[in-house]
Amino acid sequence: MGWLRATGFRARLMLAMLTLVILSSASVTGVMLYNLFEEEQARAEEQLDVAQRVANQVITTRTQLLVSNLEVVARDYGFKSAIGSRDTATITSALRNHSRRANADLAMIVNAKGRLIANLSDLDNASPAPFQAIIQQAQAEEGTSAAMGQWNDGVYQVLVVPLEGAGLRAWLIAGFRLDDSFAKLIADLTATDAVFQMTDSGALLGSSLAADALPSLEPGDSTEGQASFRGGSDYFMRAVPIDGVRGTVARLWLLKDRGNALSRYYALALEMGAVLAAVLGIAAAVVLVTARTLGRPIFTLARFANALGQDRTAEPPALRVSGEPGILLQSLLAMRDSIIQREKRIEHAATHDSLTGLPNWRALRLQLESDLCQGQSAAVVAIHLPDIKTINEMLGFRFGDETLIAIGLRLNGVLKRPGQLARTGGRQFMAILPWAAEEELRQQVTDLKTRMETSVEILGSPLQIKLDLAALWIPDHAHSIDEIQRRLDLTLAQARHKPERIAFYEPGGDEEHLREIRLIRDLSDAIQQRELHLNYQPKLALETGEFEGVEALIRWHHPELGFISPEEFIPLAESSGQTLALTRLVLSLAAGDCAGWRSHGLDPHLAINLSALDLSNPALAEDVRACFQHDPEQMDKLTFEVTESAVMNDTGLALQTLEGLRALGASISVDDFGTGQSSLSQLRNLPVQELKIDKSFVLHLTSSDQDQLIVSSTINLAHGLRLTVCAEGIEDQGSWDILRQWGCERAQGFFMGRPMAPEAIPDWALRYRRWAADHGLFQKGDET
Ligand code: C2E
Ligand code: CA
Ligand code: CA
Repeated sequence: MGWLRATGFRARLMLAMLTLVILSSASVTGVMLYNLFEEEQARAEEQLDVAQRVANQVITTRTQLLVSNLEVVARDYGFKSAIGSRDTATITSALRNHSRRANADLAMIVNAKGRLIANLSDLDNASPAPFQAIIQQAQAEEGTSAAMGQWNDGVYQVLVVPLEGAGLRAWLIAGFRLDDSFAKLIADLTATDAVFQMTDSGALLGSSLAADALPSLEPGDSTEGQASFRGGSDYFMRAVPIDGVRGTVARLWLLKDRGNALSRYYALALEMGAVLAAVLGIAAAVVLVTARTLGRPIFTLARFANALGQDRTAEPPALRVSGEPGILLQSLLAMRDSIIQREKRIEHAATHDSLTGLPNWRALRLQLESDLCQGQSAAVVAIHLPDIKTINEMLGFRFGDETLIAIGLRLNGVLKRPGQLARTGGRQFMAILPWAAEEELRQQVTDLKTRMETSVEILGSPLQIKLDLAALWIPDHAHSIDEIQRRLDLTLAQARHKPERIAFYEPGGDEEHLREIRLIRDLSDAIQQRELHLNYQPKLALETGEFEGVEALIRWHHPELGFISPEEFIPLAESSGQTLALTRLVLSLAAGDCAGWRSHGLDPHLAINLSALDLSNPALAEDVRACFQHDPEQMDKLTFEVTESAVMNDTGLALQTLEGLRALGASISVDDFGTGQSSLSQLRNLPVQELKIDKSFVLHLTSSDQDQLIVSSTINLAHGLRLTVCAEGIEDQGSWDILRQWGCERAQGFFMGRPMAPEAIPDWALRYRRWAADHGLFQKGDET
């Protein structure tokens, strides 16, 4: 049935209607033809009834006729005298003559005992004659007897007539065959065909029909005495029994030709076929037209539905329909309207913020994209509400929402260009302002901030809201949405650090920002993969000139950006929370390098730089101990360099960490001393052993009187506090000499040794001895 489902409405309708027409026509025709046949059979039955009666009559009449003929013969004198002669030849000759006159097919004479006296059938005279039953009947009645009898291959109408006279007692027997001529006679008189058939053998005796026209006549095919129609045969047939003295000897078949009836029948069927074809044709045409007229609105509506699928605004078809198609059209129209409504709602929801009802970031982005596309100049201002998070936390989300709504409304009022204002994030709005020169824009933004920051009433409570504002110009400062967003975010971050909390984008600022982001990301991987390594710069005892120790300085070769200075990435590590991991790496690398030197017979002191954040790591001392656990003696030779500001910053936790390190045996040195704001007196209470004078005071020591004053007084004061002093940044012999003269304990600088790979240290140490001797650094040694 798949094909039926696949066929269209019209085809199915046509199929249904045509099937109906064919079925009804076929059944009417069938009923008619059947009735016709029944009627014909009844008529044949009647005709055969008549024929049977006539045939019986004919047989009876013929018997009477033959009997009277024979009785004439029997009375004939000549015949009688011939028989009276008792001469067989005479008798036989007379019998031949007289039987020919009577047209008998069979003739014989028998005596009273039923034995043959004479016959024409070459039978032995004096033998018993055939047809004994009929003979006995005649003898019993002493008169004439007639009956059907079978003899040899034939059936005969047998007449037995007494021959009387001259003391003679004999019987004349004559037989008349049931043959073709008798059959034809009956056929002529009954207007049916007639056939004689022997009952015993079924042999054909006589027929009015030519042998080839004969239907097969099977005894028992028809009930005796009743007509029957035999399928495949062209005749209605009836078998009439022909009885002898003892039972039936033959059958008379009466045959009624159907040829006539059939031809009528066929002509009628043909006519009906023609009528049926015509009806079918008309029905098909009617069905086609109906299906088209019924189907057309459906197809039109289907096309409309399709068009709706493509385009919601598709025009409805100009259809005047009622009924189901009308309902369908109304439904489609209602569907179209609701789709349009819903799409409008979705569109609005997609481009608007549900809370404030303002356009959202998507809508503003479209506006910005079109401005950029058209080369339109404008200023873009980001308005950030840093306090919303706190408001939500402290006063609840409802209050926060109300605040945002109020701010949205107020911004709308102040800016007076509603289409250009959008809520672009949870705490952020953005506005596109007409282009203005920097001064003018600065004024506008400041005004906006002042007006926005006046108190507003939220749920009955007055609230003053703070704004951070960032602005840039398009297309001057940004050529894409991505740039606008990134640069405004960056500028907002800068605004947060300004007292007026307003910042304008400065070109180049974000390239730096991008580099920072990248370095922060890559640094994390580099620390994990241990892709950083340490260089070591020698520290020397100024008094003796001896190589005393090294300072570990971290190095990072970025695979793409090349050498990155620690001055650049250390603060990034701090700001991105990677300090502790970095310091742990430095400790473990340094511990490994110390072990390497030991195998060269070197055992230098080791200085390690710490960030301010390391001091707030309570586990630092434990980390240090773990790193040097295989080398506990190194603990006493460890110095941790901590910047001045770091030491001063958080005195509580930092102090604890410093004391932890001290407890391990390590010393603490205040790095970059002189650049911070601390005073020496503050250092007095800290567990610090060394001051490391910043290189900015040392680099030009020989030429700068001011630096000399600072350095010499720092040394004096440090000594007053029982702190040793290390000077870094010694680049010439003059500085070395001056510092030694002032009693500075330790020295570090390019003059004596630059930072170098750990493997280079042993070699350097050897060369240094010769070099230092050449330059008179080993002064004590010289003196001794
Ligand atoms: P710092 O601790 O003051 O280290 C001394 C810096 O001065 C080093 O720079 C060194 O190469 C440089 N220097 C030494 N002698 C001279 C000289 O005679 N002339 C000049 N012009 N410079 C000299 P570097 O290696 O670039 O380190 C910069 C800063 O990075 C260090 O300053 C330190 O604060 C930080 N740093 C380096 N390694 C580490 C580390 O492992 N951990 C931490 N937290 N900070 C480190
Ligand atoms: Ca240092
Ligand atoms: Ca320094």
